[in-house]
Amino acid sequence: MTNNNAEVVIVGGGAAGVAAGRRLREAAIGCLIVEARPRLGGRAWTVTDHSGFALDLGCGWLHSADRNPWRPIAEEQGRVIDRTPPPWARAALAIGFPLLEQKAYRAASQAFYARLERAAGNAHDSPASTLLAPDSRWNNLINAVSTYISGTELDRVSVFDLDRYDDSGVNWRVVEGYGATMVAAAADLPVVLDCPVRRIDHTNKLLKIQTTKGVITAEQAIVTLPSTIIAEQERLFAPALPDKTEAATGLPLGLADKLFLSLDDAEEFEAESRLFGHTDRAGTAIYHFRPFGRPQVEVYFGGRQASALEAEGEGAFFDFAASELTGLLGNAFARRIKPILGQRWGLDPFSRGSYSCALPGKADCRAQLAAAVDDRLFFAGEACSRHDFSTAHGGWLTGVSAAEQVIAARRRQSST
Ligand SMILES: Cc1cc2nc3c(=O)[nH]c(=O)nc-3n(C[C@H](O)[C@H](O)[C@H](O)COP(=O)(O)OP(=O)(O)OC[C@H]3O[C@@H](n4cnc5c(N)ncnc54)[C@H](O)[C@@H]3O)c2cc1C
Repeated sequence: MTNNNAEVVIVGGGAAGVAAGRRLREAAIGCLIVEARPRLGGRAWTVTDHSGFALDLGCGWLHSADRNPWRPIAEEQGRVIDRTPPPWARAALAIGFPLLEQKAYRAASQAFYARLERAAGNAHDSPASTLLAPDSRWNNLINAVSTYISGTELDRVSVFDLDRYDDSGVNWRVVEGYGATMVAAAADLPVVLDCPVRRIDHTNKLLKIQTTKGVITAEQAIVTLPSTIIAEQERLFAPALPDKTEAATGLPLGLADKLFLSLDDAEEFEAESRLFGHTDRAGTAIYHFRPFGRPQVEVYFGGRQASALEAEGEGAFFDFAASELTGLLGNAFARRIKPILGQRWGLDPFSRGSYSCALPGKADCRAQLAAAVDDRLFFAGEACSRHDFSTAHGGWLTGVSAAEQVIAARRRQSST
């Protein structure tokens, strides 16, 4: 591709880009999704392992599944929706975490979130960590769980933003994979892969999208890039859009990484059960035993711990998990687990993190990032969502909303 044109270019082919493309196609508006990776889906990525199991290295849970637009799409595709309640809705395994202690932790966590709700009514925003009870023994665990919810510890989380997150409490999964569902949903959409966008020149009426494969001209563009990429790529827009750089900087992607392990003699563990590596530190991992009943462990790492392990190298995740698991289950357990696959999302040049959180004082950056520029540049992606940020359905909803804005702008332009 050396030169090309489209009515609307969609920059990025993740949840938001695919949703925008589908809506524009429905409205008979010509669009082209320009995607940097050799695949669609972005932070949704299903890989089939050697046993034929679909592993979601990115999003796996249909959060708010009763109102999640990806669910009917998966159903239309004939996929199997697993409605087993998630492990976090039940007690964890008691190994290293007796049930009475779990009860005390749950009470401390509920009290923390009740304080958060009250503080959301304050005039000024603050770091969520300021709401931890002084000297509570559960603060580290509440922080560890924050790294799975927000990708970061509470000192980097805005109270206002966290309180705005809306979740119906219904969490289901697609057996064949969330990422696979997204790729199939993009079938027949015009896409160019392996084509990073370097610059979006909006000097003249026609936009010039500069890519590694040449220039594409377009009347409008929907930018769905992860916030960290927008923040780091200061020369992305010409002329520069400092407002967007500032908004994206307030919404960094936190870090959550997964590692899948194979597990011998898996039946010893209850399907869909959960184990905390440690309960006295934020730098720990959470172990989901036998997801979908499979002989596997899905391990979650988050926040600063995940960052440190990414820096140490690929083997560091397995070594960390093996050391926590043998600490709880005995040295012989090491022989029963082997690494299958993981992904270091922070090092991935096309995401540079896992999902967005607003830094303290920056909750309104989501609206700032989402705002259109000159009826020609539109913005989508989970970081633009006020209530469903950090999720794949948040990505979808913002993609549809940006496409609706394009449709409305084109109507306005054609009537003048
Ligand atoms: C480990 C992990 C677990 C998660 N778990 C869940 C979960 O259970 N449930 C849930 O709902 N969400 C979860 N998420 C979050 C969810 O995956 C994301 O919120 C969602 O997929 C983001 O979609 P998006 O379209 O906004 O962004 P992306 O998926 O990041 O899409 C942006 C696209 O832009 C592309 N791109 C980047 N740079 C360029 C460039 N220069 N030019 C062109 N294209 C470019 C990227 O390759 C990407 O395809 C998880 C994420 C991770 C990493």
